[in-house]
Amino acid sequence: MEILHVSAECYPVAKAGGLGDVVGALPKYLQDAGHSAKVVMPMYRTKFLAANEWDVVHKGATNLGDYFFEYTIIKEKTNKLGFDLYLVDINGLLDREKIYGYDDDTQRFTAFQITVVDWLSAWQHRPDVVHVHDYHAGLIPFMMQYCYRYKHLASIPTVITIHNAQYQGWMTWEQSVFLPPYDDWKRGLLEWGSSINPLASGIKCAAKVTTVSNSYLEELKFMSNGLEALFEYEKGKSVGILNGIDAEVWNPATDKYIQHDFSIETVEEGKAKNKAQLCETFGLDPNKPLFVFIGRLVGEKAADLLPAVVGDSFYYIGRRMNFLILGSGEPEVEGQLNAMNALSQGDYSSYIGYNEALSHLMYAGADFLLMPSRVEPCGLNQMYAMRYGTVPLVRNTGGLRDTVKDISADGGYGLVFNNAATGDVCNAVWRAVELYNNKKQFHAARERMMKLDFSWESSVQKYIDLYKSLQ
Ligand code: ADP
Repeated sequence: MEILHVSAECYPVAKAGGLGDVVGALPKYLQDAGHSAKVVMPMYRTKFLAANEWDVVHKGATNLGDYFFEYTIIKEKTNKLGFDLYLVDINGLLDREKIYGYDDDTQRFTAFQITVVDWLSAWQHRPDVVHVHDYHAGLIPFMMQYCYRYKHLASIPTVITIHNAQYQGWMTWEQSVFLPPYDDWKRGLLEWGSSINPLASGIKCAAKVTTVSNSYLEELKFMSNGLEALFEYEKGKSVGILNGIDAEVWNPATDKYIQHDFSIETVEEGKAKNKAQLCETFGLDPNKPLFVFIGRLVGEKAADLLPAVVGDSFYYIGRRMNFLILGSGEPEVEGQLNAMNALSQGDYSSYIGYNEALSHLMYAGADFLLMPSRVEPCGLNQMYAMRYGTVPLVRNTGGLRDTVKDISADGGYGLVFNNAATGDVCNAVWRAVELYNNKKQFHAARERMMKLDFSWESSVQKYIDLYKSLQ
């Protein structure tokens, strides 16, 4: 089968979070399983763009309401990522450095989607499935079925994967002029809560809906930023498929971002060396357990709890541990985490920003990873951490619930708590310190985690079965 993935992110071209990791890995594993996977995404002005060679494969012209524009589709020449990678260039809209965060994001991503469908309609052959990811591509199933000029694509089945239902891409009805002319009888398929909702439209119009873990799919019926009833209604065509991790990129034995590689046999020495490097860089004490947080500093990740978690842990448990935080997001949280550097007694540090290399070193060198998330569709961090022998402290939600087993259970290895509340997290920190001091149990947990299989192979087969069911 030939599967065309449409996404705003794809690692290593452009990544802001888990979406990028998944779209960078799933197509590779589909190829390995004997299928032809392609990815199309916007041509942001990234390092990857400058560092690689490209062929122009299509030029066209279309419009976003009364804004007529020309576009170019380019393809990476050498199949560097293991699958065909196409970029959509629209001058004035997509030629920016960042992925998101511009005032005209609605126009940018709507134009991107129109262009993808326009290109698809001019293509000489058809993919067997168009697989769209998150709201940035959520209008495509509607356009392929109900926009007059693209209706001939209606027989191609579409799948939408929801990596994050918090962001839905709401548009006002005035902005409906951006869409190519469509069958007005079908306008209800665009709408949710009296505005155009690209994510809801994707869920309604795609042949199948997937979410990135089973527990998340269940939770969405009760908590999905307004779409609860829709998830309940569409449950018959929805399925949860847990993300895998790219075992080539995230492998402590070959990781190109770390200087001290290690395997399960050398985990203690290997991690100690990486920890020493981290502690030296950030002025921390390598003799104390090292807790890290890596991620977007937003409410979903419960990042707002971090200052109090650090403060209360020091106060109630004592300064018996280090904290190192990497992330960016809400300015208030960033400010608090930065300000706390001044109070450090060689046991706290933060790095505000995005740093891929540092994240790898932190997974490798940390003893514990904090994930108190309020919402966690799948969560990749805990899986990376476990592959690197780092014990995750997670809230019992979404993909965290599906991947981390508390150490108190038979064969358990992580630390699980129920509420995104400072007290619950601090209690888990206290349990973690106890675990750290029990060297034998700690080592056993590390070994158990490193043996877990979070590879893409089994998840990829579930996607293949899903695509086949649509042929
Ligand atoms: P989400 O997509 O909701 O942000 P995921 O757990 O699915 O969360 O994926 C997060 C990915 O982004 C992981 O690969 C994580 O290491 C990475 N990441 C998040 N923030 C940063 C950061 N500030 N620097 C480096 N990597 C980061």
